[in-house]
Amino acid sequence: MKIAIIGAGAMGSLFGGILAGSADVCLYDVNEAHISEINKNGLLMSRGEEKRYVKVRATTNPEEIGTVDAAIFFTKYTFMDSALKDALACIKEHTVVLTLQNGLGCMDILKKEIPENQIYYGLTAYTSDMKGPGHIELTTKENVGTYFWAADDQVSEEARELEKVMQKAGFNIQITKDVNEKIWRKLMVNCSENTLCAILRLRVGQLVNTQESFEILKRIINEISDVALAKGIMISREEGLKYVMEVSQAVEHHLPSMALDVMKKRKTEIMCLNEAVIEEAKKYGIETPALEITAQMIRAIEKNYEGQAF
Ligand code: NAD
Repeated sequence: MKIAIIGAGAMGSLFGGILAGSADVCLYDVNEAHISEINKNGLLMSRGEEKRYVKVRATTNPEEIGTVDAAIFFTKYTFMDSALKDALACIKEHTVVLTLQNGLGCMDILKKEIPENQIYYGLTAYTSDMKGPGHIELTTKENVGTYFWAADDQVSEEARELEKVMQKAGFNIQITKDVNEKIWRKLMVNCSENTLCAILRLRVGQLVNTQESFEILKRIINEISDVALAKGIMISREEGLKYVMEVSQAVEHHLPSMALDVMKKRKTEIMCLNEAVIEEAKKYGIETPALEITAQMIRAIEKNYEGQAF
């Protein structure tokens, strides 16, 4: 099976590196230094002291990818429009197009160019960091869960084949309709911890162990639960909080990606997280003051990267 990874940063390289064991993979990315290092020495995948180099095809030229059976998107939401435009070179009528990116909205961008019966969406519990050109570090155990489902609720033979190839490569992956509930649980984590750690400059453990920030976190989770329930996704406020606390305890020292984005003065993924949930809430007339104020604070931080007082 031919598979293209569109956006081969921390997560794309992780998926491409693992898949290279059971498929013909091509990594596509606009980062010249990263791609050239992979072509020169292979992709370095490390976890603590463990290190391995993976030989995998990589390019910055979308015309060089060739037609693929599956295209897996792993850019940040902010680069989806341009990545999709580039990726059209390798996507044909039979290609399964899969987004495993965080938040809501990547699927809607795909729908602008790709027929719905080719689109699949989901999430993964894997985490990874970019250490430098050609080098990624896995920050979760191997074989944590990855899940996806069809945009039109009809799972094709080609998608089943992708599932098989991914399982053969070692992924604990499942095509499941359950994916919406998992996505909304992950949204609860990302919309509360990512924004609050970025605004308050705290690690996850500090955030949940400080009474005042914990109270804001709870308000965000409550609002997301209200929207989820209105959509028929059954996650109560109590279950949501329990889930977020379980995740937090496992990653006390973690600095979420939005905190890193703010630290490095990059555009954040706020539009596919808090802002996307606010848009959903409007459809049901649900008020979301905590989501709104945190989204506005992130926007204000982004707008003033160059003029911060201290
Ligand atoms: P990243 O910034 O490390 O990687 C994104 C890559 O996309 C970069 O290498 C960038 O050069 C590339 N890119 C930008 N524009 C492109 C274009 N037009 N064509 C091709 N490539 C392009 O980001 P990441 O941490 O890998 O995250 C990717 C997605 O996965 C995000 O939605 C993120 O929220 C989600 N996610 C990340 C993690 C994690 O632990 N890093 C875990 C789960 C989900």
